[in-house]
Parts: sequence; C-alpha cells; structure tokens
Amino acid sequence: MKKSFKYYIKGNREIVQKASRTLELCRILYNLCLEQRKFAWDNYHKSISCYDQIKELPSLKKFFPEFKEVPSQTLQEVVERVDKAFQSFFSRVKKGEKSGYPRFKSFNRYDSFTLKQAGWKLACKELRINKIGSFKLFLSRPIEGEIKTVTIRKTLSNRWYVTFSCDKVASKPLPKTSESIGIDVGCLSFLTTSNGEKISNPRFFQRAQKSLTQKQRSFSHRKKGSSRRNKMRIMVAKAHEKVFNQRRDFHFKIARKLLQANDTIYIENMNHFKSYRVLNRSMRDVAWFNFFNILLFKAEEAEKEVVKVPARNTSQICSSCGRTVQKDLSCRVHSCPFCGLIIDRDTNAARNVLRLGQSLQGAEVLASTMN
Ligand SMILES: [Zn+2]
Repeated sequence: MKKSFKYYIKGNREIVQKASRTLELCRILYNLCLEQRKFAWDNYHKSISCYDQIKELPSLKKFFPEFKEVPSQTLQEVVERVDKAFQSFFSRVKKGEKSGYPRFKSFNRYDSFTLKQAGWKLACKELRINKIGSFKLFLSRPIEGEIKTVTIRKTLSNRWYVTFSCDKVASKPLPKTSESIGIDVGCLSFLTTSNGEKISNPRFFQRAQKSLTQKQRSFSHRKKGSSRRNKMRIMVAKAHEKVFNQRRDFHFKIARKLLQANDTIYIENMNHFKSYRVLNRSMRDVAWFNFFNILLFKAEEAEKEVVKVPARNTSQICSSCGRTVQKDLSCRVHSCPFCGLIIDRDTNAARNVLRLGQSLQGAEVLASTMN
C-alpha cells in the first residue's frame, strides 16, 4: 500500500534561503504555465498540454538561467501540478459543479516543491538536496517501503517539513474480532457508536479557538507591511498548526481504538452533509471529513473494513421496528410509540447506520451469488 511519512527538517540560514528561492522559482513557473495556457485559449482557442510545456523547459532555462538552479524533475513536477489543476477544473465542469478556474499562486499560497528519484540523498539524520544543501532531519519514526517522491514544504509559520511518499509499504494487520459497529457523528458529541458509547469533543478546540481569535484580532490591528504584523502572522499560523496537529492526533487515536475493537465499521456517506456544513460552525470544526479519511486509511493498513452507508433520516427511523418517529434537534431521546424502544437519539442513529450497512452488504452478497 501507499503511505506518506512526514518529518520536521531544519536548515541553516543559507539553506533556508536557497530552499525559499527554489520555492519562489517554482511559483513563478507555475504562474507562467498557467498564463500560457490561459493566453493560448483566450486568444487562439488552442489548448496546451502538459507534454508541450515540459518540452519547452530547456528553452526557458536558456532565456532565464535562474531556472537552472532548480532540479529538472522539480520543474517538470510544477508543470504537472498546473496540468492537475486544469484536469480537476475540467472534471468539475463536466460534473456541473461550481468550477473555480485554476488560480495564480501568490507568495504564501505556493508552499512546496517535489523531487522524484533523483536530486536528493538520505544519510543518517540528514537530507541532502542537490543545488540546495543539507537539512537536519528529525526522523521521528522509520521510513517504510520504496520512496517515490520527496516533497519539501514550508508552513506559514516558517517551519520546514519533508514528506516521503512511499509505495509497497507493508500493512500492519490488527487481530480479527468479528465485531461490527455503526457510527453516528453529531455536534454534541464527536461521535456515538451503535453500542451506545459516546466520544466527546476534546475541549482544546474551543480553548484554542478563543486564543486564535485574540491573535487574529491583534494581527489585523497591526500596520500592514510592518515587522510586528509579520511576527503576529507567524504566531497566528503557529496557533493554527497547533490546533490542526492536536485534532489530527485525536482523530488517529479514535480511529485506532475503533479498528482494534471491530472488523467492520459502518459510517454515513458524507455527501449529503455539504448543506449541513454551512449551517453550523462547530460542526464543521469537528472535521469529520478528515477523521473519516484517517479512518479509511488506517483501516486499509490494519486490513479491516470501513463501509460508507448512504443513510438518510437515521435519527428519525426507529432502529428496532423501522418506523418513523418524528423529532426535532432538541429532542435527545428516541422514544418509539410503536415498539416501546427508548434509547439515546444518537445511539439510535448509529444503530440505523449499522443495520442499513449490514443489510446493504447482505444484499450485495445475495446479488453476486444470484449471478
Ligand atoms: Zn420502534
């Protein structure tokens, strides 16, 4: 399976300057490629391919020798990024979704460059990059599999990270338990399982939110272009990164716990949540999307299964008799007048996800045996 490994790296002033310059050159190239495609289309209705643009790189280097400072594969990868941006734009148009045209990248919006097989070398605690120099590497865990690409990223708080994207990483199966579970996500608790267990939102979200708002405010009060404002910008970015990391750790912990206890986990298909997400800020903050992605990925690694269930009205339907029991959001208890079931509202919803998921899977098995 594929897996990425991310580490903190640190370099001296000279290396950081060179890496920043590489980043800037990549950004310029990105914008150039975008401009070229836009110009050709607007004026001649001609589309330019990724291949066309890669072919032009040598002549670009001739006219602008500064691009020679950047490894060729890195430049190619920039062209590929532009192509990817266009591909996803076209596919959005095709699907009839709201389609943002690929955007020019401003200084803070372009934060990484990538190397492929060549141009870098890994020696113990050191990452050497051609034409840039050596970063000190903080190898917090071993790298596994075959390294396919190496991406150097600068965060808004001016910290540097490297991500190794690896292939052929061995999975780490967790022992089988023959248990299945359904999950309901909500705004009061982070999630509720069909066993009735509730996992609450950690308080640090709210706590961090408060200090973030304060920092954001003093940032916007400071004079534009001043060094004090820039210092505050870095502090805001650091605070954001801290919340992001805490949340991520929390998600990993919960995913691991669920996967240790269960072989199959049924979750709601999140597509119809889009409208919800606009409704409530605290709901969005919980970031289930990130959590479900982590859960899916960890399940693959653990050789367990996560099934997305196209569930609707899970809170209204009785998980015992299947009849609809109308209730509004403030009603926290499901009390069924038909079969007499009285349970927590979210537990009822989670049981519905489990039930629906199992019946759908059963139907699939049935359909495949009939063919
Ligand atoms: Zn009932």
